[in-house]
Amino acid sequence: MVSSVVCILLAALLLTPLPLNTFGANEAVTVPSAEMYGISTEDPFMRLAIDEALEGITLGHGGPFGSVIVKNGQVVGSGHNMVLKNNDPTCHGEVAAIRDACQKLGTYDLTGCEIYTTGEPCPMCLFACMWANLDKVYYGCTIEDNAIIGFRDEAFDSLFAGREQLGDYLVCIDRDACLELFSAYLELEHTIY
Ligand SMILES: [Zn+2]
Repeated sequence: MVSSVVCILLAALLLTPLPLNTFGANEAVTVPSAEMYGISTEDPFMRLAIDEALEGITLGHGGPFGSVIVKNGQVVGSGHNMVLKNNDPTCHGEVAAIRDACQKLGTYDLTGCEIYTTGEPCPMCLFACMWANLDKVYYGCTIEDNAIIGFRDEAFDSLFAGREQLGDYLVCIDRDACLELFSAYLELEHTIY
């Protein structure tokens, strides 16, 4: 008798449908992507950074900033802005991706890696990239573009005004695609911080 009750409970448990509001293998919610939004990039890694950002803004995690870190042609870390989700003003996409890559690679030193990020890094993230020894930073939208959609990067950067000394450490690619991402963000309900 007891065993048959256990069997029925187990069967009920197995037949319970999976929750629909989480990203995963067997669910109905479509993970947003650059392709879904009709955004095409010249660089495949910038497309992945845009995918990250779209996931973040769709979930209401924060601004339209996604990043991927690449080593020898392989993605070794990724992240998006989670300032709102975590109530953490330092959780920018670049910082999230650096933490992810360092954990996955088991190191604090990302020498030999490059980062692709949808917006030009703010001063905090730029220095985080340098502390992490990232070889190069590829960004989409410029720091002025970030200001246009309501972020204070440009104001903070003017306090330092030294990034032009970094030469080709910072390289702008796929700006048009990232501007389309910013437009998608502006069309969504969003919180300015
Ligand atoms: Zn930042």
